[in-house]
Parts: sequence; structure tokens; C-alpha cells
Amino acid sequence: MEIDLSRIYTCPYCRMETPHYLLVRREERVAITCSRCQTISLVKAADLEVHQAWWEAELAEILSGLDENGIDDEH
Ligand SMILES: [Zn+2]
Repeated sequence: MEIDLSRIYTCPYCRMETPHYLLVRREERVAITCSRCQTISLVKAADLEVHQAWWEAELAEILSGLDENGIDDEH
């Protein structure tokens, strides 16, 4: 359930991808708050879903990249 409570979005204050908690959803608009600085962003729900999908794809790519290359250099 926790995954439904946070969405990755670009915080205008942190200037990075941060988990945001969903505050209010009204039709196609949602208010989300940054879990780091509490800055509230008002975004379209569709944009949020697109961003979330992009982020998950990016994350999957990074993880598969780690799998292929290994991180043995760190030892
Ligand atoms: Zn922030």
C-alpha cells in the first residue's frame, strides 16, 4: 500500500526526483507534497502517471545495467 502513497516527481525546490505524498485529488488535478522539503506541487494526474512510468522504466534500466556490468570494482 505504501507505494500508492508516494509518487516520484521533480520537486521545484529540491530540483531533483523526490518521493511526493498525495494530498488531494480533484478530477484530473492532484496536490502532492515533497517528502523532503514539504513543497506542495499542483500537477495533472496524467502527468504524474507519465512521470511515474518514466521513472520506473529508468529505474528498471539502471537496475538491469547493474546486473550486466556488475559492481565488483567497488571491492
Ligand atoms: Zn522538495
